[in-house]
Amino acid sequence: MDRPLRVAIVGAGPSGLYAADALASQDDVPVTVDVIDRLPTPFGLVRYGVAPDHLSIRSVRDKLDAIFDRPGVRFLGNVEVGTDLTWAQMEQFYDAIILAYGASRDRELQIPGEDLEGSIAATDFVNWYTGHPDMDPDEFTDLLARARSVAVIGVGNVAVDVTRVLSKSPGEIEHTDMPQHVFDALRASSVREVHLIGRRGPAQANWTTKELRELGELSECGIVVDGGAEVDDPASASAIASDKATARNVAVIAEWLERSVADQPRMIHVHFRSRPVEIRGDGRVQELVLERTIIDAEGRATGTGETSTLPVDVVIRSVGYRGLPLDDVPFDGSRHVIPNDEGRVLGDGGPIPGLYVTGWIKRGPSGIIGTNKKCAVQTVSGLLADAQAGLLGAAGGATAAAVDAALTGWQVVDHDGWRRIDEAERALGARAGRDRTTVHTREDLLAASR
Ligand SMILES: Cc1cc2nc3c(=O)[nH]c(=O)nc-3n(C[C@H](O)[C@H](O)[C@H](O)COP(=O)(O)OP(=O)(O)OC[C@H]3O[C@@H](n4cnc5c(N)ncnc54)[C@H](O)[C@@H]3O)c2cc1C
Repeated sequence: MDRPLRVAIVGAGPSGLYAADALASQDDVPVTVDVIDRLPTPFGLVRYGVAPDHLSIRSVRDKLDAIFDRPGVRFLGNVEVGTDLTWAQMEQFYDAIILAYGASRDRELQIPGEDLEGSIAATDFVNWYTGHPDMDPDEFTDLLARARSVAVIGVGNVAVDVTRVLSKSPGEIEHTDMPQHVFDALRASSVREVHLIGRRGPAQANWTTKELRELGELSECGIVVDGGAEVDDPASASAIASDKATARNVAVIAEWLERSVADQPRMIHVHFRSRPVEIRGDGRVQELVLERTIIDAEGRATGTGETSTLPVDVVIRSVGYRGLPLDDVPFDGSRHVIPNDEGRVLGDGGPIPGLYVTGWIKRGPSGIIGTNKKCAVQTVSGLLADAQAGLLGAAGGATAAAVDAALTGWQVVDHDGWRRIDEAERALGARAGRDRTTVHTREDLLAASR
C-alpha cells in the first residue's frame, strides 16, 4: 500500500490506548490511528471506575495521556460508534478496526425484589460518584440522606470500593476529584452501617489484599465479621495452601475476627456464606433475605435452606460487569464478549480480516489496568501480521478527510479539547484546594472543551 494503514480504535480506555501505543511504537507497518470514544473524555474506567480516593492509580491517566502525543494518533471524543458513525461508515473509512469498548453494564442477581426502589447496580453508583455524564447528579442524593443501612452484595474489588466510599468520613474524601454534588451528598449521608455480603467464604473472595486491608483502617469506622468466616472445609484449605494472595486475604479477615468491636460512628459488617435470596419492601427496599450456604469440594456455594433477614434501606448489587453487543459485530451472548482468537474477531467462517478486539470486551471484566497492555499487544501483533500478509487495505479510498466530512457539524472533542477540559477541572479543583474537581455533565464538558 502506498499510504499508511488507517486504524480505528473504538474506546479510549486503557486497552484502546495501549493498542494505540503498540501501533504507534513500531515502524514495520506505517499507520495512522483514530481513537474514538462516545464520551468527551478519554481513559474509560480509569476515569469512571477506579475509585476517586485512589489517587495514585487514577494518575495512570497521565501515562495514558502521553500516548496521544505520538505521531499519527488522534482522539475523536464525543463520537459514538454505531450511532454517530455507523458501522458501514467505519468499514468504509478504515482498513482495520480494533474494538476496545469495554464492559459497561451490571450483572443481575435474578432474585425477587431486585426492581424495588433502593436496589441499585454498583455500575450506576460508581458512575455517579465518579461523575459519569450519563448519570443524573441527583440520582442518589435523597437515598443517601435517608438511608441508614446499606447492603453491598459481592466480594470483589468494586464491592470493596463502594463499601469504602460509603464508609469514609467527609475528611477522608475531601482531597479527591469527585464532583462537588457527590461531596455534598456523601457529607450529608446518613449511612452508618454497610453490610458486605459474600455467597462463599474468605478463601473464595476475589479482592486484592491491599484494598481489603484498607477497609479495616478507616478513621471513623469499625469493622466486624458477622459470620461464615471459617476456612476449615477442604476447598478453602486447598485454596489457602495453593495461593499466597488468598492466604493473605484470609489472614486479614482472621485479624478482624480478633478485634474487639470498637465504638465508632460508622460500622462495616462482613457476612460470608450468605446468599441473597430475596429483597423485600413495600415499594422500596426494607430488608434483605439471606440464605446460609456451605462450600462444596469444588469451592462452590450450596444453599442450606436456613434463612435470616437483614433490615436495610439500600441494596447495591456488585456481582460483575458485562459487555454489550455492537450492531453487525459478532457477539457471544453467554460470555458477554466478542468471540476472538487472540484478538482476531471470529465470524461464522473464522477470523474476519480487519476486525480485532482487546480489553474487557475481548476477555471479560477481569485483571488490573496493566493486564490490558499485554492483551492489546497480542491483538496488535495479529493486526500487524495480517497487514504484512496483505490481508488489510481493501477500503482503498480511506482518508482522514472522509471521517472529518462524515462528522461535519458534530461536536468532536479532539486531544486539544480534552486538554482544555483537563485545565478547567484543575482550575475548578484549585478553588476548593484540591488538585482537580470532575466536571460531570456532557454539556459542561463540551463547553469546557471549546
Ligand atoms: C469500579 C471499577 C474500579 C476499578 N478499579 C481498578 C483499580 O483500582 N486498579 C486497576 O488496576 N483496575 C481497576 N479496574 C479495572 C480497569 O478499570 C479495567 O481493567 C480497564 O478499564 C478495562 O479497560 P477497557 O479499555 O477494556 O475498558 P474501559 O476502561 O471500559 O474503556 C472502554 C471505553 O469505550 C468507550 N465506548 C463504549 N462504547 C462505545 C462506542 N459505541 N463508541 C465509542 N466508544 C465507546 C467507553 O466510553 C470507554 O471510554 C476497575 C474497574 C471498575 C469497574
